Amino acid sequence: MYDLIIIGGGPAGLTAGLYGARGKLKTLILEASMEGGQMNNTLSVENYPGIQEGGSGMELGMRMADQAKEFGAEIRHEEVVEVDLDGKIKKVKTDKETYEGRTVIITTGAKPRKLGVPGELEFANRGVSYCATCDGAFYQDMDVYVIGGGDAAVEEGDLLTKFAHHVYIVHRRDELRAAKSLQDRVFNNEKVTLIWDSVLKEVKGDKIAEEVVLENVKTKEVSSHKSTTDSKGIGIFIYVGYEPKTDFLQGKLALDDKGYIKTDGKMQTNVEGVYAAGDIRSEGVKQVVTAVGEGATAALMVTKYLSNNL
Ligand SMILES: Cc1cc2nc3c(=O)[nH]c(=O)nc-3n(C[C@H](O)[C@H](O)[C@H](O)COP(=O)(O)OP(=O)(O)OC[C@H]3O[C@@H](n4cnc5c(N)ncnc54)[C@H](O)[C@@H]3O)c2cc1C
Repeated sequence: MYDLIIIGGGPAGLTAGLYGARGKLKTLILEASMEGGQMNNTLSVENYPGIQEGGSGMELGMRMADQAKEFGAEIRHEEVVEVDLDGKIKKVKTDKETYEGRTVIITTGAKPRKLGVPGELEFANRGVSYCATCDGAFYQDMDVYVIGGGDAAVEEGDLLTKFAHHVYIVHRRDELRAAKSLQDRVFNNEKVTLIWDSVLKEVKGDKIAEEVVLENVKTKEVSSHKSTTDSKGIGIFIYVGYEPKTDFLQGKLALDDKGYIKTDGKMQTNVEGVYAAGDIRSEGVKQVVTAVGEGATAALMVTKYLSNNL
């Protein structure tokens, strides 16, 4: 019997594990893959306080895992496939075992939705990115293609103008879906060009991305775009939504219409003794620093809940 079972070993889960174990709770972290979560896809985490030189995401994840283990958190590499969250004792079933815990924190994160076009995965982190806040600075003076027309695409497109030589927002329709105030920002920015009615067909290159192939969905015209002479290269930022990892939670607790877990400001879900933190939460900004803060908050709330329910 564990005091606390954490599902997911990204920054939110590992921090919850550190706080739980340091608070003398018998703590288990279940991680389907490698500790660190999405940070493992990040070449350099430059916006995490205290890491001025920008350490790799994988290194940061390993250090967080070591720290949690140092205080006694147990980490098992198993995928959670089913949960029973009713009652005082929660049951968490993995591909190997069933565990029992008095509380559960869910930190299974979200992943950027992929387009599935040729070259997208091949050039991931080598010209193709899913996070301007994270990777924008690597595209200094380059021509950047932002794919999408929602809030994220337009907001991040606007942000990218701080770094890029020029930003092209490629949208499959002839008007943006983003909030009007965001639209005004890019319409009034001379570093942004909108490419309407178009979709990304392919990313080409050698060691890094060098060419973007677009198709006009109305005329079916295919066009190829390389970096312009006065830019330093090419980048592609894809914003076609996020997918929460909550398949095993359907019907078990309150999710929003996109499948993210609803919580209050103390990370408490609608089920007693069950908390959620990080990218999986309905609210929030999807960054390492916020995932870590929410993981700590959830674990501290668990400590309080357990001491009130002895
Ligand atoms: C390419 C990229 C670059 C980024 N760069 C930055 C950056 O520079 N700075 C920044 O602040 N943020 C960055 N981010 C965002 C940041 O990585 C995330 O906000 C953060 O990792 C969220 O942490 P999390 O713990 O909530 O979830 P995640 O990091 O998604 O971790 C969730 C973990 O849960 C595990 N899991 C999922 N389902 C199960 C299951 N059923 N059973 C067991 N385990 C499960 C997953 O394997 C994963 O390890 C980047 C994201 C991406 C994709």
